Amino acid sequence: MKPAKFEYVLPSTVDAAVEALVAANGEGKVLAGGQSLLPLLNFRMARPAVLVDLNGIKGLSYIEDRGGCLAIGALTRHHALEQSSLIAAKLPVMSAAMRHVAHLAIRNRGTIGGSLSHADPAAELPMLAMFYDAAITVQGPAGRRTIAAEEFFVDALTNCLEPEEIVVEIEFPVLRHDGWGFEEVARRFGDFALASVAVSIRRGQAGLEDARVAVMGVADTPLRLREAEQELMAMELDERTPERFSEIVVSKVSPNGDLHASAEYRKHLLAQLSKRALQTALAEKGLLRQ
Ligand SMILES: Cc1cc2nc3c(=O)[nH]c(=O)nc-3n(C[C@H](O)[C@H](O)[C@H](O)COP(=O)(O)OP(=O)(O)OC[C@H]3O[C@@H](n4cnc5c(N)ncnc54)[C@H](O)[C@@H]3O)c2cc1C
Repeated sequence: MKPAKFEYVLPSTVDAAVEALVAANGEGKVLAGGQSLLPLLNFRMARPAVLVDLNGIKGLSYIEDRGGCLAIGALTRHHALEQSSLIAAKLPVMSAAMRHVAHLAIRNRGTIGGSLSHADPAAELPMLAMFYDAAITVQGPAGRRTIAAEEFFVDALTNCLEPEEIVVEIEFPVLRHDGWGFEEVARRFGDFALASVAVSIRRGQAGLEDARVAVMGVADTPLRLREAEQELMAMELDERTPERFSEIVVSKVSPNGDLHASAEYRKHLLAQLSKRALQTALAEKGLLRQ
Protein backbone atom coordinates (compact mmCIF):
# COMPACT_ATOMS: atom_id res chain seq x y z
CA MET A 1 0.00 0.00 0.00
CA LYS A 2 0.99 3.61 -0.31
CA PRO A 3 0.63 6.32 2.36
CA ALA A 4 -2.37 8.62 2.42
CA LYS A 5 -1.60 12.10 1.07
CA PHE A 6 0.39 14.39 3.37
CA GLU A 7 2.20 17.70 3.23
CA TYR A 8 5.99 17.32 3.58
CA VAL A 9 8.04 19.87 5.54
CA LEU A 10 11.87 19.85 5.81
CA PRO A 11 12.83 22.40 8.47
CA SER A 12 16.46 23.28 9.15
CA THR A 13 16.07 24.11 12.85
CA VAL A 14 14.30 22.54 15.82
CA ASP A 15 12.40 25.83 16.33
CA ALA A 16 11.07 25.64 12.76
CA ALA A 17 10.14 21.96 13.24
CA VAL A 18 8.14 22.83 16.38
CA GLU A 19 6.46 25.70 14.49
CA ALA A 20 5.48 23.30 11.72
CA LEU A 21 3.96 20.91 14.28
CA VAL A 22 2.04 23.76 15.92
CA ALA A 23 0.75 24.87 12.51
CA ALA A 24 -0.36 21.29 11.81
CA ASN A 25 -2.73 21.61 14.78
CA GLY A 26 -2.40 18.06 16.09
CA GLU A 27 -2.27 16.52 12.59
CA GLY A 28 1.53 16.58 12.30
CA LYS A 29 4.04 13.78 12.74
CA VAL A 30 7.80 13.88 13.03
CA LEU A 31 9.95 11.73 10.71
CA ALA A 32 13.42 10.63 11.89
CA GLY A 33 14.87 7.34 10.57
CA GLY A 34 11.49 6.29 9.19
CA GLN A 35 12.07 2.63 10.12
CA SER A 36 8.91 2.41 12.23
CA LEU A 37 6.90 5.32 10.87
CA LEU A 38 7.11 4.52 7.14
CA PRO A 39 5.53 1.05 7.49
CA LEU A 40 2.77 2.65 9.58
CA LEU A 41 2.22 5.26 6.86
CA ASN A 42 2.26 2.64 4.12
CA PHE A 43 -0.35 0.54 5.93
CA ARG A 44 -2.30 3.75 6.61
CA MET A 45 -2.21 3.01 10.32
CA ALA A 46 -0.84 6.55 10.67
CA ARG A 47 -2.36 9.31 8.51
CA PRO A 48 -0.69 12.59 9.45
CA ALA A 49 -1.72 15.63 7.40
CA VAL A 50 1.83 17.01 7.75
CA LEU A 51 5.10 15.10 7.93
CA VAL A 52 7.90 17.10 9.58
CA ASP A 53 11.22 15.59 8.51
CA LEU A 54 13.99 16.17 11.10
CA ASN A 55 16.75 15.06 8.74
CA GLY A 56 17.40 18.62 7.50
CA ILE A 57 18.35 19.80 10.99
CA LYS A 58 22.11 19.96 11.51
CA GLY A 59 23.60 19.34 14.95
CA LEU A 60 21.11 16.76 16.24
CA SER A 61 23.49 13.84 15.75
CA TYR A 62 26.29 13.62 18.32
CA ILE A 63 27.69 11.64 21.23
CA GLU A 64 29.28 14.00 23.74
CA ASP A 65 31.22 13.22 26.92
CA ARG A 66 30.01 15.56 29.67
CA GLY A 67 31.97 14.03 32.52
CA GLY A 68 29.36 12.25 34.59
CA CYS A 69 27.16 11.49 31.59
CA LEU A 70 27.09 11.04 27.84
CA ALA A 71 24.75 13.32 25.92
CA ILE A 72 23.35 11.86 22.70
CA GLY A 73 21.56 13.91 20.03
CA ALA A 74 18.13 12.64 19.03
CA LEU A 75 19.09 12.04 15.38
CA THR A 76 22.08 9.84 16.26
CA ARG A 77 21.71 6.59 14.30
CA HIS A 78 21.71 3.20 16.00
CA HIS A 79 24.81 2.20 14.04
CA ALA A 80 26.73 5.22 15.37
CA LEU A 81 25.94 4.09 18.92
CA GLU A 82 26.98 0.54 18.09
CA GLN A 83 30.33 1.71 16.62
CA SER A 84 31.16 4.40 19.20
CA SER A 85 34.29 3.78 21.29
CA LEU A 86 33.00 6.37 23.78
CA ILE A 87 29.81 4.37 24.30
CA ALA A 88 31.84 1.15 24.58
CA ALA A 89 34.04 2.71 27.27
CA LYS A 90 31.37 4.60 29.25
CA LEU A 91 28.08 2.80 28.59
CA PRO A 92 29.16 -0.81 27.98
CA VAL A 93 25.67 -2.24 28.51
CA MET A 94 24.37 -0.04 25.69
CA SER A 95 27.28 -1.02 23.51
CA ALA A 96 26.51 -4.73 24.01
CA ALA A 97 22.79 -4.24 23.39
CA MET A 98 23.00 -2.26 20.15
CA ARG A 99 23.89 -5.18 17.89
CA HIS A 100 20.58 -6.77 18.93
CA VAL A 101 18.64 -3.80 17.50
CA ALA A 102 17.12 -5.02 14.23
CA HIS A 103 19.41 -5.52 11.22
CA LEU A 104 22.30 -3.39 9.97
CA ALA A 105 20.22 -1.72 7.24
CA ILE A 106 17.70 -0.61 9.88
CA ARG A 107 20.43 0.43 12.32
CA ASN A 108 21.94 2.61 9.58
CA ARG A 109 18.76 4.74 9.46
CA GLY A 110 16.99 4.28 12.82
CA THR A 111 17.65 6.97 15.44
CA ILE A 112 17.71 7.02 19.22
CA GLY A 113 15.07 9.77 19.33
CA GLY A 114 12.83 7.73 17.04
CA SER A 115 13.26 4.55 19.05
CA LEU A 116 12.47 6.24 22.37
CA SER A 117 9.49 8.10 20.89
CA HIS A 118 8.12 4.97 19.24
CA ALA A 119 8.24 3.33 22.71
CA ASP A 120 8.11 -0.29 21.63
CA PRO A 121 8.03 -2.44 24.80
CA ALA A 122 10.52 -4.87 23.26
CA ALA A 123 13.01 -2.27 21.97
CA GLU A 124 16.50 -2.03 23.44
CA LEU A 125 16.97 1.74 23.70
CA PRO A 126 13.85 2.40 25.80
CA MET A 127 15.01 -0.33 28.20
CA LEU A 128 18.51 1.14 28.30
CA ALA A 129 17.05 4.58 29.04
CA MET A 130 15.30 3.04 32.07
CA PHE A 131 18.39 1.08 33.08
CA TYR A 132 20.66 4.13 33.02
CA ASP A 133 18.06 6.56 34.44
CA ALA A 134 18.36 8.64 31.30
CA ALA A 135 17.08 12.21 31.13
CA ILE A 136 15.20 12.98 27.91
CA THR A 137 15.16 16.61 26.78
CA VAL A 138 12.30 17.65 24.53
CA GLN A 139 11.42 20.93 22.85
CA GLY A 140 7.93 22.27 22.30
CA PRO A 141 6.18 25.61 21.86
CA ALA A 142 6.84 26.49 25.53
CA GLY A 143 10.58 25.76 25.25
CA ARG A 144 12.57 22.82 26.56
CA ARG A 145 11.87 20.42 29.41
CA THR A 146 13.62 17.31 30.64
CA ILE A 147 11.73 14.10 31.39
CA ALA A 148 13.01 11.13 33.40
CA ALA A 149 12.94 7.90 31.39
CA GLU A 150 10.67 6.28 33.97
CA GLU A 151 8.02 8.94 33.25
CA PHE A 152 8.52 8.99 29.49
CA PHE A 153 7.11 5.54 28.65
CA VAL A 154 3.45 5.38 29.63
CA ASP A 155 2.14 2.36 27.70
CA ALA A 156 2.93 0.15 24.71
CA LEU A 157 3.87 2.46 21.81
CA THR A 158 2.86 5.46 23.91
CA ASN A 159 5.09 8.17 25.37
CA CYS A 160 4.24 11.24 27.43
CA LEU A 161 5.04 13.83 24.74
CA GLU A 162 2.61 16.57 23.74
CA PRO A 163 1.83 16.48 19.98
CA GLU A 164 4.09 19.49 19.27
CA GLU A 165 7.09 18.25 21.28
CA ILE A 166 10.26 16.82 19.76
CA VAL A 167 12.96 14.80 21.52
CA VAL A 168 16.24 16.66 21.06
CA GLU A 169 18.74 15.06 23.42
CA ILE A 170 19.15 12.20 25.85
CA GLU A 171 21.62 12.20 28.74
CA PHE A 172 22.84 8.84 30.02
CA PRO A 173 24.61 8.94 33.41
CA VAL A 174 27.83 6.92 33.43
CA LEU A 175 27.46 4.15 36.02
CA ARG A 176 30.23 3.07 38.33
CA HIS A 177 29.93 -0.71 38.30
CA ASP A 178 32.11 -3.71 39.00
CA GLY A 179 30.24 -6.01 36.68
CA TRP A 180 27.32 -6.12 34.27
CA GLY A 181 25.40 -8.51 32.07
CA PHE A 182 23.02 -8.08 29.15
CA GLU A 183 21.02 -11.02 27.81
CA GLU A 184 18.32 -11.24 25.17
CA VAL A 185 16.37 -13.84 23.26
CA ALA A 186 14.59 -13.14 19.97
CA ARG A 187 13.10 -15.71 17.59
CA ARG A 188 15.65 -14.74 14.96
CA PHE A 189 18.68 -12.53 15.52
CA GLY A 190 17.57 -8.95 14.76
CA ASP A 191 13.92 -9.51 15.62
CA PHE A 192 12.36 -7.67 18.51
CA ALA A 193 13.19 -9.37 21.83
CA LEU A 194 10.89 -11.95 23.40
CA ALA A 195 12.58 -11.10 26.68
CA SER A 196 15.71 -9.29 27.75
CA VAL A 197 17.45 -8.24 30.94
CA ALA A 198 20.25 -5.85 31.89
CA VAL A 199 21.99 -6.11 35.26
CA SER A 200 24.85 -4.21 36.82
CA ILE A 201 26.38 -4.40 40.27
CA ARG A 202 28.83 -2.46 42.43
CA ARG A 203 30.70 -4.12 45.21
CA GLY A 204 30.67 -2.62 48.72
CA GLN A 205 32.53 -3.44 51.95
CA ALA A 206 30.17 -6.34 52.59
CA GLY A 207 28.21 -7.60 49.60
CA LEU A 208 26.81 -5.22 46.99
CA GLU A 209 26.32 -1.49 47.51
CA ASP A 210 24.49 -0.89 44.24
CA ALA A 211 22.51 -2.94 41.74
CA ARG A 212 20.54 -2.11 38.61
CA VAL A 213 18.00 -4.37 36.96
CA ALA A 214 15.90 -3.55 33.89
CA VAL A 215 13.82 -5.90 31.74
CA MET A 216 11.82 -5.72 28.55
CA GLY A 217 9.43 -7.79 26.49
CA VAL A 218 7.49 -8.78 29.62
CA ALA A 219 5.20 -5.75 30.10
CA ASP A 220 3.66 -2.88 28.13
CA THR A 221 6.73 -0.75 28.82
CA PRO A 222 10.30 -1.60 29.75
CA LEU A 223 10.63 -1.97 33.51
CA ARG A 224 13.21 -0.99 36.08
CA LEU A 225 12.89 -3.60 38.85
CA ARG A 226 13.79 -1.50 41.90
CA GLU A 227 12.50 -4.05 44.43
CA ALA A 228 14.60 -6.77 42.82
CA GLU A 229 17.60 -4.43 43.04
CA GLN A 230 17.07 -3.96 46.78
CA GLU A 231 16.63 -7.69 47.32
CA LEU A 232 19.77 -8.44 45.33
CA MET A 233 21.79 -5.97 47.43
CA ALA A 234 20.54 -7.67 50.61
CA MET A 235 21.65 -11.14 49.45
CA GLU A 236 24.67 -13.12 50.55
CA LEU A 237 26.82 -13.78 47.50
CA ASP A 238 27.32 -17.48 46.88
CA GLU A 239 26.82 -19.90 44.01
CA ARG A 240 23.06 -19.99 44.62
CA THR A 241 22.63 -16.20 44.29
CA PRO A 242 21.98 -16.11 40.50
CA GLU A 243 19.27 -18.78 40.78
CA ARG A 244 17.60 -17.01 43.72
CA PHE A 245 17.87 -13.69 41.90
CA SER A 246 16.18 -15.15 38.81
CA GLU A 247 13.23 -16.26 40.96
CA ILE A 248 12.94 -12.76 42.40
CA VAL A 249 13.02 -11.14 38.94
CA VAL A 250 10.28 -13.43 37.63
CA SER A 251 8.14 -12.77 40.71
CA LYS A 252 8.11 -9.05 39.80
CA VAL A 253 6.61 -9.39 36.31
CA SER A 254 3.27 -10.54 34.86
CA PRO A 255 3.80 -10.81 31.11
CA ASN A 256 0.95 -11.37 28.67
CA GLY A 257 1.03 -14.16 26.14
CA ASP A 258 0.76 -13.16 22.47
CA LEU A 259 1.36 -14.41 18.95
CA HIS A 260 5.10 -14.67 19.58
CA ALA A 261 5.28 -16.38 23.00
CA SER A 262 3.08 -17.50 25.86
CA ALA A 263 3.27 -15.74 29.21
CA GLU A 264 4.81 -18.87 30.75
CA TYR A 265 7.51 -19.04 28.10
CA ARG A 266 8.41 -15.37 28.57
CA LYS A 267 8.74 -16.00 32.32
CA HIS A 268 10.90 -19.04 31.67
CA LEU A 269 13.13 -17.00 29.34
CA LEU A 270 13.38 -14.16 31.82
CA ALA A 271 14.44 -16.55 34.59
CA GLN A 272 17.22 -18.06 32.47
CA LEU A 273 18.38 -14.68 31.15
CA SER A 274 18.42 -13.07 34.62
CA LYS A 275 20.45 -15.92 36.02
CA ARG A 276 22.95 -15.71 33.18
CA ALA A 277 23.20 -11.90 33.30
CA LEU A 278 23.94 -11.91 37.03
CA GLN A 279 26.43 -14.77 36.67
CA THR A 280 28.30 -12.70 34.07
CA ALA A 281 28.14 -9.55 36.22
CA LEU A 282 29.44 -11.35 39.30
CA ALA A 283 32.18 -13.15 37.39
CA GLU A 284 33.61 -9.92 35.94
CA LYS A 285 35.63 -8.98 39.04
CA GLY A 286 35.78 -12.49 40.42
CA LEU A 287 32.86 -11.89 42.80
CA LEU A 288 31.67 -15.34 41.87
CA ARG A 289 33.29 -17.94 39.70
CA GLN A 290 31.31 -18.89 36.57
C1 LIG B 1 12.12 -5.24 10.60
C2 LIG B 1 12.37 -4.34 11.76
C3 LIG B 1 12.95 -4.87 12.89
C4 LIG B 1 13.20 -4.04 13.99
N1 LIG B 1 13.77 -4.59 15.10
C5 LIG B 1 14.05 -3.80 16.16
C6 LIG B 1 14.67 -4.33 17.32
O1 LIG B 1 14.99 -5.51 17.42
N2 LIG B 1 14.91 -3.48 18.35
C7 LIG B 1 14.58 -2.14 18.29
O2 LIG B 1 14.83 -1.41 19.25
N3 LIG B 1 14.01 -1.61 17.20
C8 LIG B 1 13.75 -2.40 16.14
N4 LIG B 1 13.17 -1.85 15.03
C9 LIG B 1 12.78 -0.41 15.06
C10 LIG B 1 13.95 0.48 14.69
O3 LIG B 1 14.89 0.49 15.74
C11 LIG B 1 13.46 1.92 14.47
O4 LIG B 1 14.52 2.60 13.91
C12 LIG B 1 13.02 2.74 15.68
O5 LIG B 1 12.03 2.14 16.42
C13 LIG B 1 12.41 4.06 15.24
O6 LIG B 1 13.42 4.93 14.97
P1 LIG B 1 13.33 5.85 13.68
O7 LIG B 1 14.40 6.86 13.83
O8 LIG B 1 13.34 5.00 12.48
O9 LIG B 1 11.93 6.59 13.90
P2 LIG B 1 10.73 6.88 12.89
O10 LIG B 1 10.26 5.61 12.26
O11 LIG B 1 11.08 8.00 11.99
O12 LIG B 1 9.65 7.41 13.95
C14 LIG B 1 9.07 6.53 14.89
C15 LIG B 1 8.09 7.32 15.75
O13 LIG B 1 8.77 8.23 16.58
C16 LIG B 1 8.40 9.59 16.29
N5 LIG B 1 9.66 10.35 16.37
C17 LIG B 1 10.81 10.08 15.70
N6 LIG B 1 11.79 10.91 16.12
C18 LIG B 1 11.24 11.72 17.05
C19 LIG B 1 11.75 12.79 17.85
N7 LIG B 1 13.04 13.17 17.79
N8 LIG B 1 10.90 13.41 18.71
C20 LIG B 1 9.60 13.02 18.79
N9 LIG B 1 9.06 12.03 18.07
C21 LIG B 1 9.89 11.38 17.20
C22 LIG B 1 7.77 9.55 14.93
O14 LIG B 1 6.84 10.59 14.75
C23 LIG B 1 7.11 8.18 14.95
O15 LIG B 1 5.89 8.24 15.66
C24 LIG B 1 12.89 -2.65 13.92
C25 LIG B 1 12.33 -2.10 12.76
C26 LIG B 1 12.07 -2.94 11.69
C27 LIG B 1 11.50 -2.33 10.45
